[in-house]
Amino acid sequence: MTKDEREQLAGLIRDRIDAVTGDIDAFKAASMPVSPDNAIGRLTRMAAIDSKGINEAALAKARATRARLEKALRTIDSEDFGLCRDCEEPIAVARLMAMPEAALCVACATRRE
Ligand SMILES: [Zn+2]
Repeated sequence: MTKDEREQLAGLIRDRIDAVTGDIDAFKAASMPVSPDNAIGRLTRMAAIDSKGINEAALAKARATRARLEKALRTIDSEDFGLCRDCEEPIAVARLMAMPEAALCVACATRRE
């Protein structure tokens, strides 16, 4: 990976972190406890409780993504950055640009599926 690519990737990771942080705030707002008051009907409340569960799953996923992105940003200047966790071959730059939090090369990721 060239220095330019590394810098481009670092900028991309920062943008992603901003975006996912926005998602996290939105999911947090949507995961507020469902009020038991009778202003909304029972079925509406059931639907709200249902989507609360979905939002909590999305929130957990967004947080995990942000943690991986932050780790990528912290380690981007290290020698090991961009090496596949399994086979230790360099991960294709195009793959990192599309998915900066990727820890596996395409071959290893495919093998695990
Ligand atoms: Zn690999």
